[in-house]
Amino acid sequence: MAHVVTQPCCNDAGCVAVCPVNCIHPTPEERTRGRTEMLYIDPEACIDCGACVDECPVDAIVPPEDLTPEMQPFVDMNAAYYQDNPTPDPMPAVELPKVSAGAGVLRVAIVGSGPSACYLAEALTSHRGLDVEISMIERLPVPGGLVRYGVAPDHSSTKSIAGTFTRMMGRRNIDVYLDVEVGRHLTHEDLLRHHHAVVYANGATGDRALGVPGEDLAGSMSAREFVAWYNGHPDYADLRVDLSCERAVVVGNGNVALDVARVLTSDVSRLLKTDIAAHALEALATSRIREVVVLGRRGAGAAAFSTPELLGLGDLPGVDVTASDIGTGSAEMSALERIRADILTRYAATEPAPGRRRIHLQFLRSPVEVLGNGRVESLRTAVNTLEGATGEFENIETGLVLRSIGFRGMRQPGVPFDEDRGVIPNAAGAAIDPESGDRVPGVYTAGWLKRGPSGVIGSNKVCSAETAAAIVGDFVNGLHTPPVGDRKAFAELVCARHPDYIDLQGWRRIDAFERGEGRSAGRPRVKVVSVGDMVSVARGEPATLGR
Ligand code: NAP
Repeated sequence: MAHVVTQPCCNDAGCVAVCPVNCIHPTPEERTRGRTEMLYIDPEACIDCGACVDECPVDAIVPPEDLTPEMQPFVDMNAAYYQDNPTPDPMPAVELPKVSAGAGVLRVAIVGSGPSACYLAEALTSHRGLDVEISMIERLPVPGGLVRYGVAPDHSSTKSIAGTFTRMMGRRNIDVYLDVEVGRHLTHEDLLRHHHAVVYANGATGDRALGVPGEDLAGSMSAREFVAWYNGHPDYADLRVDLSCERAVVVGNGNVALDVARVLTSDVSRLLKTDIAAHALEALATSRIREVVVLGRRGAGAAAFSTPELLGLGDLPGVDVTASDIGTGSAEMSALERIRADILTRYAATEPAPGRRRIHLQFLRSPVEVLGNGRVESLRTAVNTLEGATGEFENIETGLVLRSIGFRGMRQPGVPFDEDRGVIPNAAGAAIDPESGDRVPGVYTAGWLKRGPSGVIGSNKVCSAETAAAIVGDFVNGLHTPPVGDRKAFAELVCARHPDYIDLQGWRRIDAFERGEGRSAGRPRVKVVSVGDMVSVARGEPATLGR
């Protein structure tokens, strides 16, 4: 028997470093890393020491004695990875340049407080010999970015990484400025003048457009907005979500599409045990949606969702998962692809039972028009084969269309931007002027704004380490303009512009308050949604929470 990595794997590879027998792969120094959905433990090499279990921030590693029959597919997936990849394919590791004594203090401003921002702060503050000061600047009164507002509420173990990030933010050389907006309270130039390096790590806050008629009809919205709504993002609390129809269609075949389908079909009693926003819980309690169609334009073999997430759909109580036009060919499959194809074949053979809710995975259909008189009534789709369009069309009756076709980074004031890709043009994290191809001194990026919206939380660790290496390399080579003021001067500037900003202590108060409310309600936390309430709680004042 051996330990097994299961569904919540965040892929940040902290476990790899503590494994005494190097039996967890792919490591950050292996080429397969960029192509895998999770990490896998080699059942032949694992010595069951359990070191990885303590290190895993999301409780994804299960010792043999705790394995349940439902976890067997993960036992198979861990073993299958080693059948497909019997020998590691090494690549050079990202290493931060050495810093000599007397190099002085490197001052870095990080815009954003999500996974890429936190992994970057982690990499810089952990680098031996580097004297660094970090100003972390977040527009909202709470940190966390995608961990708080993107991860699905029923993926609670994934969210536990937020605790690790909060502890890291408490390091002596990090100042956290919450409720502070660049472009409002501070300018890009303010940040540049007070730091050697300014890093934009504030994610992809826009959407890709479908580019089909009717996509802006009432009843059609992006999955990003819907996710932000159910996760209690203050900007989306008032989103009008009409759940009075019986069928919803989610366009796209990524993990976000599956998150949304799960939330829409889950029984409210299941969601009650999560930190889903109270307003979403209330709306879902009266939802009439019985079926969610998840629409993929290509065959199942090309779908972007990960196998653990696909498998997890089948465990939803009261929900049947069905599939049609899975279009998997007879081409040679790897052991992992075979496991995935078997799951899809099982779903395709499932007969939905009357009275149960249903998630239907419909492959080989492209959306061509959202139809309706003033609001969504149906979605017109083009029927495809694996080879291309057939010229046939099908209408799906629906009152709710959620476009889950990928997020998009947004232009940051004063910083170059690639409108086509929705990213800051960069070389290994260092911003590039797209006209001249020259480096933009002192400006960097990390995470989805750097590479586009791809990968799981832990994928940001390597991405941010690369940016950290670029910053430290430039510092060592004297390429930065020295800051005009020190840490105290920047704190004074923020205070002058926004005296009521919230610091880490304020977030800890909000965090404790939310957990306390959660304890009384038998939930992990009850999120404070309005910015006004967040500010009151952060100051230690009583919060009304809309009561
Ligand atoms: P994604 O993985 O990039 O998937 C986007 C999907 O949209 C693809 O299936 C794509 O299909 C489809 N699409 C794009 N344009 C389309 C169009 N015009 N018409 C129809 N379909 C279209 O994006 P995501 O789901 O937003 O996820 C973003 C990242 O977050 C991913 O890396 C994901 O793994 C990660 N995430 C992970 C988890 C988790 O681990 N539990 C949860 C949520 C998100 P084509 O392939 O045909 O282009």
